[in-house]
Amino acid sequence: MVRTAETRRDTFVAQHLEARGIRAPLVLAAMRAVPREIFVPDALKRDAYEDRPLPIGAGQTISQPYIVAYMIAALCLRGGEKALEIGAGSGYAAAVLGQIAGTVFTIERISELAVRAVSNIAAAGCDTIHVRHADGSAGWAEEAPFDAILVSASAAEVPKALLRQLAIGACMVVPVGRESCSQKLLRITRIDEDTFAREHLIDVRFVPLIAEED
Ligand code: SAH
Repeated sequence: MVRTAETRRDTFVAQHLEARGIRAPLVLAAMRAVPREIFVPDALKRDAYEDRPLPIGAGQTISQPYIVAYMIAALCLRGGEKALEIGAGSGYAAAVLGQIAGTVFTIERISELAVRAVSNIAAAGCDTIHVRHADGSAGWAEEAPFDAILVSASAAEVPKALLRQLAIGACMVVPVGRESCSQKLLRITRIDEDTFAREHLIDVRFVPLIAEED
């Protein structure tokens, strides 16, 4: 039997996501809908439905799909939100987020990757995603506030600009920690103008967030 990409995605979602506790129906549907093979280099397309990060050039990786699903589930989206992602990379996580959120703004600091993210996102038929080539630690002030912020690279500290661009009541999911073995995935909820609640979700491994001032 020829297994289509769609069948492989359905199997992937059942075995790697549902079986490991990802329950949010919107997230499972979004992971079933986005063809990850579009976002990985030609030589690695046959590995697109393995649950691991893959190299995408410029020393960066497309994240492990379980982590993409876990992080998006942790944002507790209902649909239609205005979302910000830092670290577009291949554009895959933005495309998954875009299946649920109304609009996604995603920032990538490496121009070669930003250009490729734009074409991958177009090839996947996602038309509610805006990609910017810039330092994402400054956020995207003109579009703030955001109902959700997903940070796909790990910083020593959560960039202040991102906290300021979070809508009241909204949350950000962000890996924090410089050493690749000691990063913590945090969910930060903005309670009011000056109060933020922090929860430690799991330990993770991300490429570093490289900010202008580093
Ligand atoms: N979300 C991506 C995976 C991202 S890997 C995907 O689905 O493919 C993390 C990305 O963050 C890398 O592409 C890296 O270049 C980018 N990055 C690191 N520091 C950044 C910064 N300050 N601003 C924007 N992007 C940054």
